[in-house]
Amino acid sequence: MTHIFHRTPRKPPALALRGQGSFLIDAQGRRYYDGSGGAAVSCLGHGHPEVAEAVIAQIRQLEYAHTSFFTSEPAEALAELLASRSPAGLSQVYFLSSGSEAVETALKMARQYHVERGQPQRRHTIARWQSYHGNTLGALAIGGHRGRRALYQPLLPESHHVSACFARHHREPGESDAAYGDRLAAELEQKILALGPDSVSAFIAETVVGATAGAVCAVPGYFRKMRAVCDRYGVLLILDEVMSGLGRTGHYHAFEHEAVTPDLLCLAKGLGGGYQPIAAVMAHDKVVQTIVDGSGAFQHGHTYVGHPVACAAALAVQRIVARDGLVARSARLGEHLGARLRERFGDHPHVGDIRGRGLFQAIELVARRDPDTPFDPALQLHARLKQEALARGLLCYPGGGTVDGERGDHVLLAPPYLTTAEELDAAVECLGQALDAVV
Ligand code: PLP
Repeated sequence: MTHIFHRTPRKPPALALRGQGSFLIDAQGRRYYDGSGGAAVSCLGHGHPEVAEAVIAQIRQLEYAHTSFFTSEPAEALAELLASRSPAGLSQVYFLSSGSEAVETALKMARQYHVERGQPQRRHTIARWQSYHGNTLGALAIGGHRGRRALYQPLLPESHHVSACFARHHREPGESDAAYGDRLAAELEQKILALGPDSVSAFIAETVVGATAGAVCAVPGYFRKMRAVCDRYGVLLILDEVMSGLGRTGHYHAFEHEAVTPDLLCLAKGLGGGYQPIAAVMAHDKVVQTIVDGSGAFQHGHTYVGHPVACAAALAVQRIVARDGLVARSARLGEHLGARLRERFGDHPHVGDIRGRGLFQAIELVARRDPDTPFDPALQLHARLKQEALARGLLCYPGGGTVDGERGDHVLLAPPYLTTAEELDAAVECLGQALDAVV
């Protein structure tokens, strides 16, 4: 009898005993290839000795100091490193412990920025459908995953959504990328006007959509157009790169792909690579300066903000990513993974799409390719696929089920940047066998 209230209490998970490179090893000695890096967390893989040393050294020197009294060396160094790898202006960092906290913090920072500028009427956040921003109530409210929201709907603060940018499913027949992007920008503008042009605080989007739809990239030009609409109405642009940031897509920041700079950027998973729970909001100087010149204090805080051990772990992870050229490696291995997925699944009758960037790739599952038909959600295909993959020693991240017209079943892969081409080949074959076992 376990005393942990597990996610799946009727079927508790296996016990993970050790981690080694791209593999996790359970209590029975079974090895699992970490094809999803947990949930796009383990960018360096498991058991990296340098990160372990950094964590131990930091605990020996200073395990904790509350940020109302002190800053710490690893926090200062990590903030400096992040700022040095970001575009001019995006230079202020606020540390947290999880992606949800980062999102909540960004929403509050945006709100305080407007209040300090004499615009207290700005209170609305606009987000997108088919998105995920976290499980705390504020983050869940702006999230656009109907399934995850449903139970808690009565508790959720007011929120506003516009369409996702998901060309495969939502583009009109014959519509170009440019026309589709223009249509979505017009929809955002309409939403801002409907709420009141000076009442919107921020627009938030995942730069590359992760958990809800599987590595969905926007059409070229989309984010520049959304940025322009935000600027027209004084709305802050928050990009959520909790999953897609810090090398995962083959760029350090996923937004570099479109050369758009957000006002606030949420980071988490790959920041500490799983060695410690840590997240961050990177804020544009104009946001921070407004608060500094106004009331002088951000009205927010958590006990473990800037935790020295978490910062030391993340500092070690980010230094290794830079020193060992792992962003370029993610881009290179991502090409390899994409090619293997196309080879294995390009003609597969139940794979409707293969997509992604860097080591952030997904396949979308369909009951039929022509006409494009999703699986019945009652089949719980993604849950069965996860089990089949697990039985074959592969950890992957299936999701989906079609709800209210949202599509659909997919499998996300987000392996460690230190994985090898051979490991990727084996993982793709394993995924193919698991898929063939369930369809
Ligand atoms: N934002 C995105 C894009 C995510 O994918 C997630 C988690 O999967 C979160 C926020 C929430 O992060 P956490 O689970 O660390 O609270």
